[in-house]
Amino acid sequence: MSIIALPELPYAKNAFAPFLSEESFDFHYGKHHAAYVNNLLTKIKGTKYEHLLLLEIIFESAKEKETAIFNNAAQHFNHTFFWETFTPNSVLPQENTKFFAAITNKFGSLENLKAEIVKTAVSLFGSGWVWLVKDSNDELEILPTANAGMPLTEGKMPLLVVDVWEHAYYIDYRNARQKFVETFWNYINWSTVNLRFMKT
Ligand code: MN
Repeated sequence: MSIIALPELPYAKNAFAPFLSEESFDFHYGKHHAAYVNNLLTKIKGTKYEHLLLLEIIFESAKEKETAIFNNAAQHFNHTFFWETFTPNSVLPQENTKFFAAITNKFGSLENLKAEIVKTAVSLFGSGWVWLVKDSNDELEILPTANAGMPLTEGKMPLLVVDVWEHAYYIDYRNARQKFVETFWNYINWSTVNLRFMKT
């Protein structure tokens, strides 16, 4: 049996209204994310992927160009990473940290980083994700990926992500992607993002 499973959310589904309604979690987490997990389990059953860890499945299916397996595996990773990127109790990053220095070094200020993320999200055509990543020199970069794309297969470490598939915001924001991303900014779990920066 595979160890792939839908993770528990790190908070209650009603913890974010009006940023995100409980109904939007019922669909985004309960239907979309769950479907990626179930599709992945179906597709890897009886294959060489069945007993691999999620990241092993992602790297191997990317290499083998097993697109259906890659898409569902990467979407499972991306959604899990996304749920952990925000919190009902957001606190801005501490200014005396290496992470904050990396932000000001690259973007000038936290406000500029926000503006760049919003701009990148709005200009990403179709479905995808907007990531803050770092390279092996701890330099930060904003990286948009299309569809199920993710930074690890491009050799970049993900720190923060916002889902800009329409299914991420349609229930609460209709077609207003910009408003969704601007509001998302107020809920980022900077303590988690900082830990990712320090650990990887
Ligand atoms: Mn999604």
